[in-house]
Amino acid sequence: MDNTLKIAISPPVQLGGTLFTPEQLMKIGSVVGSDSKIEMTGFGQLYIEIPFEEAELIEEQLRSIGLKVYPVGFVTKGLIACHFCKGAEEAGLEIAQTLNQAIAGIAIPAPIKVGYAGCALGTSEPLLKDIAVVKMKNTFDIYVGGNPKGVKVTLGSKLLSGLTEDRLVPVITTVLEFYKANAKPKEKFNKFVERISLEQLRQVAA
Ligand code: SF4
Repeated sequence: MDNTLKIAISPPVQLGGTLFTPEQLMKIGSVVGSDSKIEMTGFGQLYIEIPFEEAELIEEQLRSIGLKVYPVGFVTKGLIACHFCKGAEEAGLEIAQTLNQAIAGIAIPAPIKVGYAGCALGTSEPLLKDIAVVKMKNTFDIYVGGNPKGVKVTLGSKLLSGLTEDRLVPVITTVLEFYKANAKPKEKFNKFVERISLEQLRQVAA
């Protein structure tokens, strides 16, 4: 019987992007053991397997050195944010951290990636994510339905524009809750958007 638990870990949403400290990497290496594998995912999280009976303690130790710990599988992944090169305030670091806190690890019908860009240059490629947030000076635009896989890559379509900061988290969580409540089993988010229609999702989100 498998006696391990797979978890996802990442640094916090921060200036400079997905940066680990040497202390964090050493701690990760020590909790998994020398004969383990550490998987680097395409969405900025490391997957590790830890002993099931020590999971709570290990997760607490990882959090105590600044790491984020999430479940794996059919959940919302941690926010895939840009490097905030324009600075914390101009690029919206604080609201990105709040958004990550609100969405990461929510159980949903199929895994979802949410992208965030601190300006319209979008160097974090947000429109290739299921849900994208792009900061436009003092407001935010939201896109849905991006899909980078296969030979028919799809860019996200604009769902709402000109959102003020206070509306950002409620709108994104409303979209996720609507998807969770109305998707077919394992229905991918981009397929769900196609089936429900952008217009209906817009009405729900607004
Ligand atoms: S999206 Fe804009 S703020 Fe963020 S790293 Fe790229 S250029 Fe900088």
